[in-house]
This record gives sequence, structure tokens and C-alpha cells, in this order.
Amino acid sequence: MQDPIIVRVPILPFRIVNAHLVCTDAGVLAVDAGLPDSLDRFSRALDRVDKTLRDIRCIVVTHAHVDHAGGAQALHAASGAPIVAHASERAYLRGEAPMQFCCTGCVGRLFYRTPLVHQCYAAVEPDVEIAAGGALDLRPFGFAGVVRHAGGHTCGSLSVELASGDALVGDLLASGIGIGPPFEDDPARVATEIDRIVAGGGRRFHLGHGGPVGAPEACRHADRLRHVVPSMPRPQRMAQVLRGAE
Ligand SMILES: [Zn+2]
Ligand SMILES: [Zn+2]
Repeated sequence: MQDPIIVRVPILPFRIVNAHLVCTDAGVLAVDAGLPDSLDRFSRALDRVDKTLRDIRCIVVTHAHVDHAGGAQALHAASGAPIVAHASERAYLRGEAPMQFCCTGCVGRLFYRTPLVHQCYAAVEPDVEIAAGGALDLRPFGFAGVVRHAGGHTCGSLSVELASGDALVGDLLASGIGIGPPFEDDPARVATEIDRIVAGGGRRFHLGHGGPVGAPEACRHADRLRHVVPSMPRPQRMAQVLRGAE
């Protein structure tokens, strides 16, 4: 299989929020779906590589936070492609449980006070679920790589790890700007997963925020994370991910 072209989809400017497209002759793999109302951004990004929404073969939702899953139902409806997610994120994607954010520091607590992370989004029904510690071979979809459970940011976070050395990791890894990710369930677990991806040949990390970064920077970040102690926001301020966008 040829090496893929990785296309960043700018969901918000200045790399504040990214989704990605893995493009090969076999079609397109979408990694994350962005905020609600991001469909035009996908169409424009696909147009740059002479593809359309109908070329999408699979949509991997790395986790249920609104900036990654908010546009998933619309992308699924427009492309007809199946949605892959982790079983632990199912209740959040369906809007059956409130999404939780575990802040790692002042940046996380600041983000948590903004309306952005509390947006509702259209309920998403995963077509393919990955179990705890599980993986999905992407070759049947035409892509050399796997989707692997890489928890730590949320319990059921996923990463897409390609034979080309590209790792599309959602929020597993921060933006490379040195402030750490705003939300982590388990920073030590994140560090372990980053080390695992590098040991498995990951050379370029494509991020939901900022990036991309190379393996050395990813490893430095993993070292920093081992010293992070997460703090949970007050329960009454938990985001409600409700079925059906208003
Ligand atoms: Zn997140
Ligand atoms: Zn995010």
C-alpha cells in the first residue's frame, strides 16, 4: 500500500482544533469529526486532494469530547461511512451520560469555564466498537495501520497508528506548546501510550490541538506528564452531552 497523504482539517483557526484525513488511492479515513457544523470544512479539505465526502471509507472518533465527536453524525450521514469508537465512549456519544473532563492545570480549568467544551451535539451511534485494550485492523478499509485503544485522555480514547509512521492521536498528546493538555483522565497512562506508539514506530504525531510533533518532542511531553496530578471539576459543572443538538 502507498504511503498516505495526511490532510489537516482546520476546525478552528490557528490549529486550535484539528481533524485529519488519511488519503490514499483506496479512499479516505477521517480521524475525528470536529465541532458541530464542521461539514463544510471537511468538504473544502477534501477538495484540496480531489476527493469528496463520498470517498470517506471510515470515520474514527478518537473520543467523545465535542471538538472531536460533535460533527460525527453529520459526517456519517453525508459520507455513508461507518463510525469507529471505543465501547467506553458509547454512552457519551449517544448522549446517555454526561461527558467528564479531568483538568490537569490552570489551562484546563480556564477551558472548562468556556462554553466551547459544554456544547451539545447530535447523538452518534458507533457502527464498530473497540473493546478495552483492543484494536481494529484498517487494511480491510484500504489503509495500512490499526486503530488502537490508547486511553488516558479519556477512558476510551483511540489512536490511529499507520505503517507510514504517522500516528493520529486526537488529544492523547498536547499541542507541543509546552503547557500540557487541558484535560486528562490519567496522565501516567497517556505517557505509557505515547512511549508505546514511539516504540512501535510512530514518528509523526498529528494532534487534535496544535502539532504535528515528532517522536522526540512526544517523548519529552510524556516525561512531563508523569509529574501531572489531575483534578476533577465540581460535579455540578460537568458538561452535559445531550441527545440531539438544539
Ligand atoms: Zn478531548
Ligand atoms: Zn480536543
